[in-house]
Amino acid sequence: MIPVNETPWEPGLWHAALKQAYRSSRSLLAALGTRHADAAEADDFPVLVPRGFARRMQPGDPDDPLLLQVLAVQAEKQPAAGFVSDPLYETDADAGFSHTPGLIQKYQGRVLLLATGGCAVHCRYCFRRHFPYQAHLDPHLDQALNAVAADTSIREVILSGGDPLLLEDQPLAELINRIARIPHVRRLRIHTRIPIVLPERTTPALLAALQAAPLQLVLVVHANHGRELNTDTERAFGCLRRSGAWLFNQAVLLRGINDTAAAQIQLAERLFEQQVLPYYLHLPDRVAGTHHFFVSRSRGQAIFSDMQAHLPGYLLPRLVEEVPKKASKMIVSSG
Ligand code: SF4
Repeated sequence: MIPVNETPWEPGLWHAALKQAYRSSRSLLAALGTRHADAAEADDFPVLVPRGFARRMQPGDPDDPLLLQVLAVQAEKQPAAGFVSDPLYETDADAGFSHTPGLIQKYQGRVLLLATGGCAVHCRYCFRRHFPYQAHLDPHLDQALNAVAADTSIREVILSGGDPLLLEDQPLAELINRIARIPHVRRLRIHTRIPIVLPERTTPALLAALQAAPLQLVLVVHANHGRELNTDTERAFGCLRRSGAWLFNQAVLLRGINDTAAAQIQLAERLFEQQVLPYYLHLPDRVAGTHHFFVSRSRGQAIFSDMQAHLPGYLLPRLVEEVPKKASKMIVSSG
């Protein structure tokens, strides 16, 4: 086994990296020397791309699969039938998923806590790109944690957002501590894209906060393409694993980016090389402004069959789809 560098980054580097991130399509394309016929400036969901992630893109290639995930384009501004701001009814009181601001509960025994609305990258396909975070965040944290404490059926708290690892060390450590003090909560799951797009966030203080919690820790990272993974992501994963976390990946199947069996096989193999297991492959949700990424269920199933023929079972993610108003994911295909 090749030894993995498991040295965390110095504190402060991630703040600098975030400050220097590209914040417009124009600056990102100029840095890459790339011309893109459909590029646009974003109106309400600004471009945000850390330079370290941009360095993994191929200069001059308008079809680069990493670039297309983060570049704002004209197609986002065109309405498409059936694509709406909240296709999963997460903010619809009648759907019954959110009785307390900051909490979304769709599944038995698990609850999703929205830790922040911020992210280190703005993925153009994001299913929460229209989410009203203001109505769900900080002032309501006590209320949300009280609701978790009052429901003894909850075994797992899932930190989501936004990206929970964007919280500063102190508030994140406090939040994890408060969750750990709820006696019936056994597991903490964190959904994050930060180890991929801003690996410098993996600092000693972050690892200490994760290690300190007497909880089983699961990190679900979000990589969509094998080219997103490099020596920095491997180092971040190594640090996180050493802090006691189990690491899984979830990806979204995106048209023109990773909607081939070859791309998915490469992703699964790269993840395994970095000791992360593929977990879910999501069909995209019908979110307003993302129709150009959409992949149909039948196309997803065909890609999955091809993956099944080439990958061992432990490298096959489950192909899933969120069904509006349904209290569970629908497994479309599994190995
Ligand atoms: S990191 Fe996740 S929550 Fe943030 S923009 Fe990307 S997909 Fe959305």
